[in-house]
Amino acid sequence: GGDEFVVLTEGVSLAAGPELVAERLHDVLTAPFVVEGYDGAMLTITASIGIASGLRDSAQDLLRDADIALYRAKAMGKDCAAVFEPTMQSEILDRLSLKMDLQTALAEEQFFLEYQPLFDLDTMRVYGVEALLRWRHPTRGVVGPDEFVPMLEETGMIVEVGRWVLNIACCQAARWNEQGNQLVMSVNVSMRQLATLALVEHVREALTGSGLVPSSLVLEITETDLMHDADATIGHLTRLKTLGVRVAVDDFGTGYSSLAYLRQFPVDVLKIDRSFISAMGDSGESDALVHAMIELGRALGLETFAEGIEESSQLEILRSEHCKRGQGFLFSKPIAPEAVERMLAGSQRGTREHQPII
Ligand code: C2E
Ligand code: CA
Ligand code: CA
Repeated sequence: GGDEFVVLTEGVSLAAGPELVAERLHDVLTAPFVVEGYDGAMLTITASIGIASGLRDSAQDLLRDADIALYRAKAMGKDCAAVFEPTMQSEILDRLSLKMDLQTALAEEQFFLEYQPLFDLDTMRVYGVEALLRWRHPTRGVVGPDEFVPMLEETGMIVEVGRWVLNIACCQAARWNEQGNQLVMSVNVSMRQLATLALVEHVREALTGSGLVPSSLVLEITETDLMHDADATIGHLTRLKTLGVRVAVDDFGTGYSSLAYLRQFPVDVLKIDRSFISAMGDSGESDALVHAMIELGRALGLETFAEGIEESSQLEILRSEHCKRGQGFLFSKPIAPEAVERMLAGSQRGTREHQPII
């Protein structure tokens, strides 16, 4: 089917035989070749191979297992071979059942948001929060977004779930701000959402429905997603910016940004990826990279923000580099809205309740 082929081999020894066959097939397939009419240009292709061997009740069962192994080969980074093992089947069935359950999660109100406070690193005041999606699964308990957001993206459900996130987060921020706060609400938006024209409508709907001031809403989009189709991204972002919202480049440093594009994107904030912050202090190289990213932000007139601050030594380095803002477990984990309120009330009373223990 499509770009998938089946190779049936009989009489191969079950020990290493199938893998040797796969290796030989792979060698043949990956050799560069010339396509006529393309000025003698050399082309290469890659191949992922799933292997199933032995007896099954039916040919379909053998094919299904080869397919499961193929899925694994692709997940291992493609262009390699994987041999089917029975545990793979249970993993995939597990994923499938999770995916089925996701279809009713929105209607059954199983999603909820936690909020992680965002801090001004000089004053240690909370100036905003990031909304983070959670799923209260009826039997598995609370499931984190890393486990289900990719599935929502695969199926396209992220567009409707993302719309729900925008509405709830904006209403929450508007309510807090009516109580006298001036909080910024940061919401994660995935490529699948960015690529639909509906996103502008959904953001507008969330703003008008809640009454939140547009400049208090930040949309976080990962660097990888922004660069995926950089020319189209400029158009998407320009449309969003007409609403008056701000845009942050999430996981900055992990997505191979073209600097030429970064300059053209109408973005406001660079969120330096957690991996750079956690390696700070251990290696001079990471310190130098963080320094360079902060300088880059400054040169481009963008706010730089540090994610995943876990240790006070990291905070000290960031302060000395004049990185103004950050979030991390050192200050607070993502928490329920009531806990955010307690934190805000503490800071209004002038207590140090919301401040990190450092
Ligand atoms: P992200 O946007 O990079 O969000 C920050 C993640 O880092 C959160 O994980 C947060 O709990 C974690 N984190 C924050 N500070 C620290 C720290 O000091 N140390 C460590 N080890 N981790 C820290 P979470 O909530 O599991 O979210 C994971 C990812 O799921 C998010 O990464 C984001 O990409 C995605 N996500 C979450 N909510 C949404 C959503 O509503 N829509 C979309 N499209 N994606 C979402
Ligand atoms: Ca984020
Ligand atoms: Ca991030």
